[in-house]
Amino acid sequence: MDTGADHLVERRVTRQVHVGSVAIGGGAPVSVQSMTTTKTADVEGTLAQIYELAAAGADLVRCTCNEAAAAEGLAQIVPRSPVPVIADIHFHVEMALAALDAGVQGLRLNPGNLRKEEEIKLVAREAKDRGVPIRIGVNAGSLHPALYERFGGATPEALVESARMELAYFQEVDFDDVKISVKASSVPVMIAAYRLASATFDHPLHLGVTEAGPPPAGLLKGTAGIGTLLAEGIGDTIRYSLTADPAEEARAGRQLLEALGLRERRDLDLIACPSCGRAEVDVIAVATEAQHALEGRGLPLQVAVMGCVVNGPGEARHADLGIAAGKRKGHLFIRGKIVRVVPEGEMVAALVEEAERLVAEGVEARLAAADAGAERAAAEDREALLAARGDDANQASVRIERIRNRLNP
Ligand code: SF4
Repeated sequence: MDTGADHLVERRVTRQVHVGSVAIGGGAPVSVQSMTTTKTADVEGTLAQIYELAAAGADLVRCTCNEAAAAEGLAQIVPRSPVPVIADIHFHVEMALAALDAGVQGLRLNPGNLRKEEEIKLVAREAKDRGVPIRIGVNAGSLHPALYERFGGATPEALVESARMELAYFQEVDFDDVKISVKASSVPVMIAAYRLASATFDHPLHLGVTEAGPPPAGLLKGTAGIGTLLAEGIGDTIRYSLTADPAEEARAGRQLLEALGLRERRDLDLIACPSCGRAEVDVIAVATEAQHALEGRGLPLQVAVMGCVVNGPGEARHADLGIAAGKRKGHLFIRGKIVRVVPEGEMVAALVEEAERLVAEGVEARLAAADAGAERAAAEDREALLAARGDDANQASVRIERIRNRLNP
């Protein structure tokens, strides 16, 4: 007899959408999302938090796009983010369009906030032109008042109807690149709403218990709601909404998926930058080589492979160890501090050697053993690269100009 003890019920098959490089639904691994808490206009602070979230387990990160400065920030963040970036649009259609100008890989629209049919269709058309998926993010707390009245409250049926109406607008302009969420802060309401959504739509579902509050109660609510649905085979991407450091959300999401056997357990956690206009090496090739060289050695480390020494060590300062490319050199860093500079051809070998020593000797000892001239050599390389490529290697200024023209014509 199959007791189901070693596996969950078969996952419900949904259609697949792609948020940048991350597939959602259609048999793809369930992905983890979290949301930054920095001001999106603070490019360096937001990127540092995105790296922290990625290291904690986030496959996707959402940033708020609530003002012109946030949209301009996104134009600079997206090319340097290690994971796809989704913009959360609040009330203004211009912000959705500006986020698309900025190059985000996904949008989240709340039908309770953006209500005008023409505006919803305009965003859908623009997203379609750029191949950007949209999440219809229904939230019990901001349900459209007409639906609230019609259904006598934010019931599961009302939440699903809100998503259905938004989807109908999208489909009128032939846009179907959609994920759906029907969140509530009540766990029973949320579970019932997602079960109904799963029976109604074949689009991938983003699971979450909204406003769950601080841990431990927030974690328990999130786990009760998300875990129940996942165990029933429902859900394609998840987010814990905690009143806490968002890295806790990402960690909890990842741990829940691992506990349910929906994602593999990690020992080595290799992260790599996306490689932007600043990259000095083929990041994918170096990251692949590093993954092969490091895995299977039982090294419980987060290791970062970064395309340039201009931003790499700072962006990945939460990683235990990393390597950033300079001018035909590799800059080895521990927790953001440069400890050694090696020829480009020795980058991966140096990474493996340092990883072994880091695990054997500890962070303090390895920082104390840093080469005396390493920080200075990195500073020289940084300056040389900035002089050679300028401070806008990703041509974010072109996108920012487009955003400014849109918002202040
Ligand atoms: S090349 Fe440099 S700036 Fe670009 S994403 Fe990689 S580390 Fe960041």
